[in-house]
Amino acid sequence: MKVSQEILNLVPYRPGKPISETKREFGLDRVIKLASNENPLGPSPLALAAVQKALQNQHRYPDPTCYDLISTLSDRWRIPSKNLGIGNGSDEIIDLLIRIYCEPGDSILTSQAAFAAYEVSAGAARVKVAKVPLRSDYGIDLQVMADYFLKNSTTQRIRLIFVPNPNNPTGRFIPRVEIEKFISTLGGRDDVLLVFDEAYNEFVRHPDYESVFKQVLLTNNLVLLKTFSKSFGMAGFRLGTLIAPSEVIELFNRVRKPFNVNDLAQVAAIAAIDDQKFIQESQRLTWEGLDFFMAELTRLQLPWIPSEGNFITFDTGRDALKVYEALLRRGIILRPILNYGFKTHLRMSVGLMDENRAAIQALEAVLEQIPQESFIPVPAGSPQTEGGPG
Ligand SMILES: *Cc1c(COP(=O)(O)O)cnc(C)c1O
Repeated sequence: MKVSQEILNLVPYRPGKPISETKREFGLDRVIKLASNENPLGPSPLALAAVQKALQNQHRYPDPTCYDLISTLSDRWRIPSKNLGIGNGSDEIIDLLIRIYCEPGDSILTSQAAFAAYEVSAGAARVKVAKVPLRSDYGIDLQVMADYFLKNSTTQRIRLIFVPNPNNPTGRFIPRVEIEKFISTLGGRDDVLLVFDEAYNEFVRHPDYESVFKQVLLTNNLVLLKTFSKSFGMAGFRLGTLIAPSEVIELFNRVRKPFNVNDLAQVAAIAAIDDQKFIQESQRLTWEGLDFFMAELTRLQLPWIPSEGNFITFDTGRDALKVYEALLRRGIILRPILNYGFKTHLRMSVGLMDENRAAIQALEAVLEQIPQESFIPVPAGSPQTEGGPG
């Protein structure tokens, strides 16, 4: 049967290599996965207890309105229920926003080396992706993005702008002043939606960072994605939230599947939201691990990109795939990011401290085995060739 070129161009998602597969392939007993920015602490104990209790109800369909969850979030975040939507991970929300607002041939706008889910969802909806170059410090350039939109929005039919802050896989954040300028330039327009994705918000330490949380409902074309996958340690449950004007939520609720969020995820999120102790412990552990990684990578003379997430991306100075594979053989899974145009970099998530130490130890051993190659680093702003998200 005939299939459209946009669908044929899609590359299947390549997730971080699973632990079980790595054990099997390399005959290993212990494998440490620092490849998917997961929370090494597991889910909050409060979430686990709530889920245990809810197991016996799983012969029932979940609440399609997520009523209890939305009420709880509305109360804790002080945001009206009509401004909250729940998705099967932020991933689903990204996908649905594109399907709501874009027709085939329209475009979304983002940055090079921005989170790959935007591009994947766009492709599946036959929507084009425009990307502005990264800055030389690997940061996202909102000024260039706003200028690009103003110049090309009519010809390219740009409907959505995706801004991950902090970004994955670079870990860079966008300072408050640049966000304010961007919103004052494009905020309030009725021909484009500004989508801020703050998956790593809780991990940011930099004083120049500020969430757009307070501005979302004051600006009629601004929406915010938050996820339970990272600081809440609930990646497997699949739950993301959309904070947006009620018109957007209303459309979102029309296009989503009625049972897009399963019962255990709803129950777990309600319990997790009040576990401030867990969030604080996640932050403490993440910061301790990041500080350790920065010091150790510096000692190993590997340049790293300053990160405000729960991961760090560094330059191996070698063919990153060779380093990745040598680490796999030692039971350490990191993440190659070739699909973002980085051929010598690896992304490393923060784990438990003994996992972080084991990763650095293995990395040091592997670097000695693999000779440094005189790679020409990918210049920021060069076109991305390979597909597939991180
Ligand atoms: C991990 C991540 C998410 C979360 O995606 P989920 O589908 O909620 O698991 C969203 N945005 C970015 C930039 C991420 O890195």
